[in-house]
Amino acid sequence: MIASLPSLFLSHGAPTLSLDPGETGACWQRLAQHLPRPAAVLCVSAHWMTEEPAVSAPQRNRTIHDFYGFPEPLYRLSYPAPGAPALAERVASLLGDAGIAAAVDGERGLDHGAWVPLRLMYPDASIPTIQLSIQPYRDAAWHHRLGVALAPLRGDGVLILASGGAVHNLRTVVWQGGAAPSWAQQFDDWVAAALEEGREADLLDWVERAPHAREAQPTPDHFLPLFVALGAAGPGARGARLHQGFTLGSLSMAAYKFAA
Ligand code: ZN
Repeated sequence: MIASLPSLFLSHGAPTLSLDPGETGACWQRLAQHLPRPAAVLCVSAHWMTEEPAVSAPQRNRTIHDFYGFPEPLYRLSYPAPGAPALAERVASLLGDAGIAAAVDGERGLDHGAWVPLRLMYPDASIPTIQLSIQPYRDAAWHHRLGVALAPLRGDGVLILASGGAVHNLRTVVWQGGAAPSWAQQFDDWVAAALEEGREADLLDWVERAPHAREAQPTPDHFLPLFVALGAAGPGARGARLHQGFTLGSLSMAAYKFAA
């Protein structure tokens, strides 16, 4: 029997987490050990942005090093997981059934939003993996709809892994580290409480209702994947915070597991 999987939202932090996984990496590893082993992974990464939804469908994933000016060893890391072209077609078809047109991209590999967590969770790179893009000019409700359409995949053993950042403002990053500013903590805790209480209407209207929303997410790209994971968990879903903490000052490393 295939086990139904929860959906996840992981804050991936900076690419250097691969060299120094710390407590966040340990949390991801424990999480992977406790979940049923997925038949496939569908990753919704903040680092693939397109105007309309696109699904990756390579035979084998190339590793995209989509960052600049980081230590050289990071550019040698790879995560050559097989692709899953048939699953990509199924994703496009489920979205089509929901009235959402999606392109299938046979060339796209895995960006660091996908491979930074996956290298730690499933280091043997043997689970077929594909990505779904986000639409940075669309809102939370749109991304929630994407997730609702994809919910049936969880019952087929597909892990829907959303990867972004619960607080993500690169202008306020402090490379030497230090305590998180209070606006970042307030936003992070508001998100955690709203998810734990299943306050979907508040979450979908986060731009207006969350404290310090503009400061915490000046562009929404790292937050939007969360709504795909929330929608995919089913009606009345709640999110449990599995990990909390900050890196480089204001970057939240919060991780959530969603279940209805
Ligand atoms: Zn990122």
